[in-house]
Amino acid sequence: MFVDSHCHIDGQEYDADREEVIARARDAGVTTMLNVGTGDPHGGPFERAVDLAETHEGIYAAIGVHPHDAKLFDNRAEQRLLGLARRSERVVAWGEIGLDYHYDHSPRNVQREVFQRQLGLARELNLPVVIHSREADTDTISIFREALTGYRRGGVMHCFGGSLGMAEAAIELGLFISFAGNLTFKKAEDLRDVARQLPLDRLLIETDCPYLTPVPFRGKRNEPARVVETARCLAGLHGKGVEEIGRTTSENFARLFGVRLYGTEVTEP
Ligand SMILES: [Zn+2]
Ligand SMILES: [Zn+2]
Repeated sequence: MFVDSHCHIDGQEYDADREEVIARARDAGVTTMLNVGTGDPHGGPFERAVDLAETHEGIYAAIGVHPHDAKLFDNRAEQRLLGLARRSERVVAWGEIGLDYHYDHSPRNVQREVFQRQLGLARELNLPVVIHSREADTDTISIFREALTGYRRGGVMHCFGGSLGMAEAAIELGLFISFAGNLTFKKAEDLRDVARQLPLDRLLIETDCPYLTPVPFRGKRNEPARVVETARCLAGLHGKGVEEIGRTTSENFARLFGVRLYGTEVTEP
């Protein structure tokens, strides 16, 4: 059993074959997925993400304005997203939010302001957060620390690419660390060194598809079924079986987001 903790299969890249992509995921044992909406908050991408979750068992939704689009965030966007999160039980996280200093598609001061603001919204709704941080880990951690130290719901640093120190600081603050297909890349020796040293009970796996297709499928469109390759890589690093990594990261996912894993029995206490 595997969970893809971060995918974007509501996007147009999958318009032609979305149901087959979902079926292939199930066949590969990827029972549960978190589909993260992104895009211009005024253009309806979050409604689309929620729609997908509401029409498919085992698919949940995260909504939040990506740092790339921080400059498009305003009161109207905020109200629209808040309404959606309150309306649908399938919205289980706020994100992806954070900072991206690699592309700088929005000015950095705006990114920081919108990140802070959305951490507050997550707290208001009592949702865990999905954090995107690229070349901005120091600011990301300090803003999170300031806004949400001790926050019971926590969150995840998705597609982690930072140092061991950053990962440990994030875990200290109650965050999980999620690894994507780039963990398998030939040149990612440093990242694998980090992953090797982190406790398995704080780790998640994801595809971030359609991006970051893992080895040996590089060059092709990515899809949730391929999260198994990241699990395999992590298994090698920790000297475990791939099944065990799948199970542990799935349980971590259920614990963090407070959701049931698709296909498992609900057991009464
Ligand atoms: Zn991201
Ligand atoms: Zn993403």
